[in-house]
Amino acid sequence: MVFAVGRVFVITGPSGVGKGTLIRSLMREMPELALAVSATTRHPRPGERDGVDYHFLSDAEFDARIAAQDFVEHACYSGRRYGTLRSELESRLASGVPVVLEIEVQGARQIRHSMPEAVQVFIAPPSLHSLRERLKGRGTDDEAEVARRLQVAEAEIEAKDEFAHVIVNDELSDAEEQLKRLVRDTIAAGGGLD
Ligand code: ADP
Ligand code: 5GP
Repeated sequence: MVFAVGRVFVITGPSGVGKGTLIRSLMREMPELALAVSATTRHPRPGERDGVDYHFLSDAEFDARIAAQDFVEHACYSGRRYGTLRSELESRLASGVPVVLEIEVQGARQIRHSMPEAVQVFIAPPSLHSLRERLKGRGTDDEAEVARRLQVAEAEIEAKDEFAHVIVNDELSDAEEQLKRLVRDTIAAGGGLD
């Protein structure tokens, strides 16, 4: 496995809850953190760049990376595959750089088993209604995709008690502050690992 002196922060929770928004704010305040760029077989949204937002792979490429054991976790979400590449973690963690993963719940569970020292944070919506409004308001997914994501979200929200830390993203500034405090305090307490 990964021999790490850096911390891993797993940020999970349903699509549309605000994980990306919160992580962008966290990274602005703490540029010493590295955000792992995931691999996916879904198509790029307008404006998304390969290697920056995701490593966009074909199904065959994704299979080849699984066969090569290149993933620390991978999962199927809404008919597409997503995974965290080992290469996004290893050198950073070895040199003490904390790494943030933004992943869905199945992947977070895999990381919990393979890297129990990772700090796991579940971002919860104030209600399913507000989650629906955020997903619709983001404007990146059509109605059918929003419905699929909301269906997955119900099961994901039921899993929230599995996670060591839960932040309800109601008032954005409050959630931003809670996440920043958690990351700052964890790093200050441990430097790297416990
Ligand atoms: P995720 O990365 O979890 O899929 P995003 O960060 O893309 O979610 O957020 C989904 C939408 O919700 C975006 O349009 C974002 O601006 C909005 N949003 C995020 N946090 C809040 C909040 N606390 N209140 C209202 N809208 C929010
Ligand atoms: P989106 O299509 O909206 O970019 O992402 C869909 C879901 O996949 C989100 O919940 C997102 O957090 C999750 N996701 C993104 N990257 C990864 C990854 O590397 N692994 C896993 N398991 N989930 C991911």
